Amino acid sequence: MSRFCFAILAVGLMGASFVSAQDSSRSAAADSTVIINAQLADGSGAPLKKNSVRISGDRIVQIGEFKAQPGEHVIDARGLVLAPGFIDIHNHSDRGISKDPLAETQISQGITTAILGPDGDSPWPIADWITERRKSPAALNLAVMVGHATVRELVLGKDYQRIATAAEIAKMTQLVEQGMGEGAIGLSSGLEYDIASYAGTDEVIAMAKIAAKHGGFYMTHIRDEADKAFAALDEEIAIGDGAHIPIEHSHIKLGTVGVWGKAPEYIRLIEAARKRGVDFLADCYPYDAWHANIKVLVPDKKYEDAQSVVRALADVGGAGNVTITEFSPNRDYEQHTIDVLAKAANITPVEMFVRIIRAGDAANTEAIVIGKSMTEADIKAFYQRPWVMVASDGGIGGKHPRGAGTFPRVLGLFVREKHWLSLPEAIHKMTSLPAQRLGWKDRGILREGAIADLVLFNPATVIDRSTFAKPGEIATGIETVFVNGSVVWNDGKATGKLPGLVLSK
Ligand SMILES: [Zn+2]
Repeated sequence: MSRFCFAILAVGLMGASFVSAQDSSRSAAADSTVIINAQLADGSGAPLKKNSVRISGDRIVQIGEFKAQPGEHVIDARGLVLAPGFIDIHNHSDRGISKDPLAETQISQGITTAILGPDGDSPWPIADWITERRKSPAALNLAVMVGHATVRELVLGKDYQRIATAAEIAKMTQLVEQGMGEGAIGLSSGLEYDIASYAGTDEVIAMAKIAAKHGGFYMTHIRDEADKAFAALDEEIAIGDGAHIPIEHSHIKLGTVGVWGKAPEYIRLIEAARKRGVDFLADCYPYDAWHANIKVLVPDKKYEDAQSVVRALADVGGAGNVTITEFSPNRDYEQHTIDVLAKAANITPVEMFVRIIRAGDAANTEAIVIGKSMTEADIKAFYQRPWVMVASDGGIGGKHPRGAGTFPRVLGLFVREKHWLSLPEAIHKMTSLPAQRLGWKDRGILREGAIADLVLFNPATVIDRSTFAKPGEIATGIETVFVNGSVVWNDGKATGKLPGLVLSK
């Protein structure tokens, strides 16, 4: 088992100071590390408790009041909290990870496992992707979903703007069978996105049944997060019921003026379903703006219809609330709002919108935009439900600050500054709760015998630094991160270790 060699430093500095208990020759103990003086947030939601933790190989082997043995590496974590590594159940690093296996924007948030292939869009074939990732491991653990749209496109090709036939659905289920057999952990969908938006509910149920048979779960970006968010929630619950599959509701949201402030009503419906046995969990990213292609603004798909576009822009509170972040046909548009671009071009925001759509279509691409979406009251209401976990919906190279800031932002802003959650509750939402959805017993919890995916952070300083203008800025306050017992992040930088595994059920 590879292991980080700690430098010998003075004890008592803020941050994780590494000391050698005794500068002895090699012994059996030289393979283990003891973390002393940390406050433990064990992932269960229980109050913080000061204890020592011994790590050997890839496991936590002892938790309690004990002293380090001669030759053991010691980390004095005075002033720090020790938590299980964060599990990001909705992460878009599936392409970025091959170019950036160190994944500094991810591990610097304390993420030790990223679940990839969300929103219906996954690598394919799953087996090839897993083989490749095992050949070139990353700093953090990965797992992958089968994407509904990925499979749908494999079967329908360019002819996807319709309901699938029974024979086509049968082919899709065979591909889901294949993907689950090759190591995917569930089915993801993004029914709001173009390819999937033409799918019938029965098609999704048929595919989800296969994922359920393999012990997987159904993760979904539902059909509508705007004015029809309630109907989309009904469909989601019907899919869970129809396929007898646990649900992970991706980035729970009430995204337009028409549904702003309705979180209490949404929560009531979800809690009624949970009460009658629907296994429903959700995740929520800590930002009040979304990041997607420009077409999701217009649910009726009439992208060049003035009335539809007026409505679309009004839904997000105006053209000043839509910022272009990526547009290959005209890079000059990037980082500007539609409002600003319209004024500069001396046209209306609607005309500007249509111009962007046409230029995108001509270049066979779509503008990627940030749209103001949520009210703070709704975000707070969701975060305070025990079935809502933290997930980023970001990833390596993302243009949204959530890609580098999500977990520290929850700890710094929602816990320390706004007091929406206690620290142990927030840690639970980053560790044991996602582990529960994944069916993993050895991660997301501090206990003897569990895997040593660990985060040491400073609760007084932890905060995100990424912004819409600088989305890759590394967060502060995450001091040391262990993945499978190896230190991957320490003292503000990656150690270079790549101990990440590809995980399955
Ligand atoms: Zn999504």
